[in-house]
Amino acid sequence: MKATNNYLLPASSAEPGRAIPTDLLIGDRWRAGAEGQRIEVINPSTGEALASVADATAGDGIESIEAASRAASAWAATPPRKRAELLRSCFERMVANSEWLAQLISLENGKALADAKGEVLYAAEFFRWYAEEAVRLEGEISTAPGGANRIVVMYQPIGISLLITPWNFPAAMATRKIAPALAAGCTCILKPAEETPLTAYAVAQIMLEAGIPPGVVNVITTSQPAAVVKAMLHEGRIRKLSFTGSTEVGRLLLREAADTVVNCSMELGGNAPFLVLDDANIADAIAGAMIAKMRNGGEACTAANRFYIQRGVYEEFTKQLVAKMGAVKLGDGCSTETGCGALINQAAVAKIESLVADAVRRGARVLLGGAAPSRPGFFYPPTVLSDVARDSEILKQEIFGPVAVLLPFDSIDEAIALANDTEYGLVAYIYTGDLKTGLRVAERLESGMIALNRGLVSDAAAPFGGVKQSGLGREGSHHGIREFTEAKYIAVDW
Ligand code: NAD
Repeated sequence: MKATNNYLLPASSAEPGRAIPTDLLIGDRWRAGAEGQRIEVINPSTGEALASVADATAGDGIESIEAASRAASAWAATPPRKRAELLRSCFERMVANSEWLAQLISLENGKALADAKGEVLYAAEFFRWYAEEAVRLEGEISTAPGGANRIVVMYQPIGISLLITPWNFPAAMATRKIAPALAAGCTCILKPAEETPLTAYAVAQIMLEAGIPPGVVNVITTSQPAAVVKAMLHEGRIRKLSFTGSTEVGRLLLREAADTVVNCSMELGGNAPFLVLDDANIADAIAGAMIAKMRNGGEACTAANRFYIQRGVYEEFTKQLVAKMGAVKLGDGCSTETGCGALINQAAVAKIESLVADAVRRGARVLLGGAAPSRPGFFYPPTVLSDVARDSEILKQEIFGPVAVLLPFDSIDEAIALANDTEYGLVAYIYTGDLKTGLRVAERLESGMIALNRGLVSDAAAPFGGVKQSGLGREGSHHGIREFTEAKYIAVDW
């Protein structure tokens, strides 16, 4: 099964060149969209076109459902051990190919190479984790209270799964869905973001090389996601929609999914608070803040958006954060010296410019950065704003860039109220020297995930997901595979 329309990833010192498919993967074929249109992929570091990929129509979307449907019963009947071995082989191949995959991610997403390498290993981990989960999907048996029958519950594959992913982690958001879907016995269609389709096609290519049967994973890219996804959901055979992206699009998809009552998992936006208490170890808090704010250049749903610092350490924390963020080098993601790469597009730069301008209008002080450089590509520098007014837009919206917003607080109750004052609830960070205080604050924060004296929560072995308008359901861990199953109950006469 050879792709003919490829993007040739340039050879690097470590790797020979690599041909990445750019056509739709439907069943056992790589093929152009029905109307022959292409979508341009832009390199955010230069603003120039990098490649183009096939543009699927609604008809192509329906064909991908056909392909997933044809492969469904054989895949569901494949012994879990065999599915596990294939997923394990995907993990090994992804790790073996991590160098060029990271380069590809940096090229189409703009992120720094070190972040891209971290992403590839995190992405691969989902294959390993779900290779291990595939053989551990247990059912239940119990005695009905009346004693006359037994209750048997088995977890079966939910069915054809549509997986929609964003551009900020183009490899990890895909494998975090594909691996549990396949482990549970579902076939799937991946629809990656149009900004970063090459990584999705590269991951699919690696999966085919690892022996995943044709039709089990299909990939379509489209410039008309609303129309194509709507047609696919209304067709009736999709039984699961797993979406990662903005809350706005998540809401819209929940409405679309209602017509055919499709089961939905939603990983949506965040507005993470980062709390530093007076008794925190400031060096640790700064190290954590650098990860929570600067990983992926701030383009993460888990990115610390609002730093609430207790009055006693506010000045010291601010001084050290400005020094650390000021030392980060802005530049082309593919250069090994770059600490902070380009943003995804000009609209992202413009959004940050307007949020910063609004904060400054309301009295914020710019301690670092604060203006986009004039150079090709889509850049915004590491920026620190202090004394931000509480009604500023920047505290309400996802910043999605390297801008740290600092506010002092006096009491813990005040910090918790400020932290919870948002429609989002994905992740919250707490730094304190007292574990009991940390756990008590964690209990009161309205958030699906809490990082206690840590700058990172993501782990394939942990349940990732949000509360409030940050989402529905969990990815990763044993929770993630359950999202792709239905509980079937059998009442057994005894
Ligand atoms: P987005 O919502 O604009 O797009 C996400 C995906 O949805 C893309 O594949 C896009 O093509 C598709 N899409 C857009 N409109 C659609 C429509 N009408 N119908 C069907 N599909 C549609 O988000 P983005 O800008 O790509 O990603 C950034 C967002 O993702 C941020 O809000 C971020 O917080 C969120 N995110 C959340 C998590 C999480 O795990 N909670 C992880 C990463 C990113």
